[in-house]
Amino acid sequence: MNFITAKKIGRNRLLRWILLMLGLVAIIALTGMNVFSLYDIRERVTESESERQLKKAEEITTLVQSEIYQPFTKLLNIDNQAEESLQDDGSLSKTLEKIFIDLADNPYTSSIYYTPASKDPCEAGTSIYYFNQSDRKMETTQDYSSLVCDGVGLIRSATRIQINNFDLRWRSMIEFDAHRSMNIGLINLTENRVIGYFTFILNQEAIVEKLIAPLIYEYFGGIENDGTIVWLHDHRKDVVLASNNSSVDFSVDLVDNRVRFPRFFSDWILKVAFLNPPITSAYQDTFRKNIIVLGFAVLFLVGSLLFMFYTAQKERELSMRQAGFLANVTHELKTPLAVMQAAGENISDGRVTEPVRLKKYGAHIYDESIRLRKMIEKLLDVAKYDAGQTLVNQKTHDLKVLVDSYLEENSEFIESKQFELEYSFENNTDFMIWVDSDSIDTILGNLIENAIKYSSVTKKIELKLFEDDAQVKLSVRDYGVGIKKSELKNIFKKFYRVEESLVAKTKGHGLGLSIVRNLVLLNGGDITVDSEYGSGTTFTLTFPKLNPEEIKNYS
Ligand code: ADP
Repeated sequence: MNFITAKKIGRNRLLRWILLMLGLVAIIALTGMNVFSLYDIRERVTESESERQLKKAEEITTLVQSEIYQPFTKLLNIDNQAEESLQDDGSLSKTLEKIFIDLADNPYTSSIYYTPASKDPCEAGTSIYYFNQSDRKMETTQDYSSLVCDGVGLIRSATRIQINNFDLRWRSMIEFDAHRSMNIGLINLTENRVIGYFTFILNQEAIVEKLIAPLIYEYFGGIENDGTIVWLHDHRKDVVLASNNSSVDFSVDLVDNRVRFPRFFSDWILKVAFLNPPITSAYQDTFRKNIIVLGFAVLFLVGSLLFMFYTAQKERELSMRQAGFLANVTHELKTPLAVMQAAGENISDGRVTEPVRLKKYGAHIYDESIRLRKMIEKLLDVAKYDAGQTLVNQKTHDLKVLVDSYLEENSEFIESKQFELEYSFENNTDFMIWVDSDSIDTILGNLIENAIKYSSVTKKIELKLFEDDAQVKLSVRDYGVGIKKSELKNIFKKFYRVEESLVAKTKGHGLGLSIVRNLVLLNGGDITVDSEYGSGTTFTLTFPKLNPEEIKNYS
């Protein structure tokens, strides 16, 4: 029967461990999964956010190109009349005049030149045409920008290649000279020859100030945007021409992406840094909060699981102790009853008549009934304490008087067990405390009973009454078997008996010290134990000392 129960308990315990482990694994797996997916989402959000920002930068470059390129497209539509329309005196046909006026008003160009194919603007003293905006006509000039030589040089080679390859899909060619000028070659398709070259000097400053910088600001915000920084960087000269947030200095290390301008402005690059994009930082915030909440949830769950497990374990221990106690107490109740029953039967049957035997049988009945009473009293004490019904009738008492009266009643019993009692106390001192005298009787009774039960060779009990500033103390010392350090924390538990005491077959139910502790606490005191295994044990009771003022008030 016992075996089956133990097996069952063992199985349940294993099951509980398995369930606990499964629960923990589930929690950890769930947390891990959450953290991983949050991390994954974060990566994706950051990535798509970066892509979005890059698209914006690309949009800027496309916009800049079309904004600058657009006015010149009109020139692509002029026909062969152009040659005739550029008269030697510099007067223009109406169509060309309108185009030039428009282009001259364009804030991104500063001046317009025309070089006939026969002339070389790189030769000093060459006179070429120059568009005079105020007179709205072409004039010849020898004083022109050196950029014309560079630009015409470029466009000339380009048109030559086109003509030689017979690849004349375009009537005119548009070429750029590294941001400084736009050059257009006019080709006569029927005769397959170049007529001349237009050179438009670009106003770089205006392009940066009036076009690119406002666009960067419009697309990426200003100083308040410390997440995405965009610099317009001239990589050949290594200068920053514009930026949306001047508070962050340009550094190659910061740059995450580069966006080039399509077709022209090859020296200029939009360099983008993602320092702390708003979405990512908002995300990181949520991510951090999630982790904290998750962490607490896990801690809480693990904590409650462990707590549940711990309390279940404690309850199991208690119920096992209770079961052991029940078996023990049943036996203990039956034995005195059986003795009393047999003795009573013998007397009532008239089988025992001699006075000596009668006395002996009577003494048996008396002793056993005392044992029974004590046991029942203990049980009742525990039950009352558990139900919160233990009553203590506290009064002002001198602890010495209470100890004296206990010894008066019990020293005979102690001596009968061949124990030597050593009682010491400080003279001329009263040990006034606020306690219930019956409680002190019970406490002393249990401690002395234990001292007797758990002593073997040295049969000696020392009672010592002393005090310090605020406390009255009473110690009960024996030279018995002692208690192992590991057991000290258990001995005050209800139904707890040290394994060795069980083996040694000392009678007991594990209730005495639990009752003692309950009563000490109810009387406002404290109990400590100090023991050396094999050498003996000392229990010390401590009660708050009453000062004269309190003694007067309480009496
Ligand atoms: P019990 O009925 O077993 O004596 P107690 O609650 O009085 O129950 O004591 C609990 C356990 O503490 C005992 O089983 C015993 O092992 C240990 N114990 C108590 N007093 C002493 C002592 N004076 N010396 C050694 N062991 C003791």
